[in-house]
Amino acid sequence: MAVGRFTKEDDSLNARCERSNEIDEDATSKGQESMKLKGRIAIVTGAGQGIGRGIAEAFAEQGADVVINDLVDDARTKDVQDAIEARGRRAIVVPGDVSKRPDVENLFDEAWNQLGPADILVNNAGIETIVPFTELTDEQWEVVTNTNLKSEWMCAQSFCKRLIAEGRKGAIVNIGSIQAARVLPGRTHYAPSKLAVEALTRNISAEVGSHGIRVNCIHPGLIDTPMIRWVLESPDILPHVVAQISLGRPGLPCEVGAAAAFLASDEAAYITGQSLYVDGGWVGK
Ligand code: NAD
Repeated sequence: MAVGRFTKEDDSLNARCERSNEIDEDATSKGQESMKLKGRIAIVTGAGQGIGRGIAEAFAEQGADVVINDLVDDARTKDVQDAIEARGRRAIVVPGDVSKRPDVENLFDEAWNQLGPADILVNNAGIETIVPFTELTDEQWEVVTNTNLKSEWMCAQSFCKRLIAEGRKGAIVNIGSIQAARVLPGRTHYAPSKLAVEALTRNISAEVGSHGIRVNCIHPGLIDTPMIRWVLESPDILPHVVAQISLGRPGLPCEVGAAAAFLASDEAAYITGQSLYVDGGWVGK
């Protein structure tokens, strides 16, 4: 265990996530009727690791087939595919950079061709860099905003056009960040890209609501993924961050996955245009 990482509680939480992801054939067949996403097809961007993987697995646990997108088709995406197929769901990997229009169109073409019309889109792919404001270049601004914001707009547009043309309902979950509401140093590009996801969510939801498409946003707090491992492993930084979190610990990808599964499901049938902080009580403290 790395310095500064949570030990006792963190281990038990991780174990809880892993246990909830274990495949119990009996329970699976008994619980099929209560699965939130039974028979649905979901596309999750950036699902090769971290929060995207947590969402993909939570969706499979709730009965959905999953299209796994990430930059490349590699051992990580294969691992996620295996984990989904082990639950008896279908899974395909469609690599591509969702900040690029041709890759976005290819993602939806492949999803439709290989699995069939999708019901759910999760715009999760994102990157974070830390650069002081006065040193930030145009290119650094564009890479971050194109990946975190333009990609969500393009994927949502491609998804909604198809659903509207086919007269089908659906749900979109956009992933923002706690940084929509909290200032951290060197994030004058990252934070606006994430706050903008909230406005994007509201505005798309207003335009597609009449077609039966719901659009919501999750702002994760500090979630244990490769992206922020450097925070979790820093004995100087971690205590300061955790002190701001009411529950006093980082969250897990499966905990974001559970919230995303709810928002994508019919249980959230009357919820659209909303942003939900899944942050252990950081914004609320
Ligand atoms: P991560 O870096 O662990 O995983 C992100 C995945 O997205 C990677 O597999 C990466 O290859 C993929 N990806 C990056 N750019 C892509 C692109 N252009 N096209 C397709 N795939 C791409 O990150 P994470 O922590 O799991 O973060 C997932 C999302 O959650 C991001 O949008 C991030 O900004 C957001 N978020 C994370 C945290 C956190 O604490 N981990 C907090 C707030 C928000």
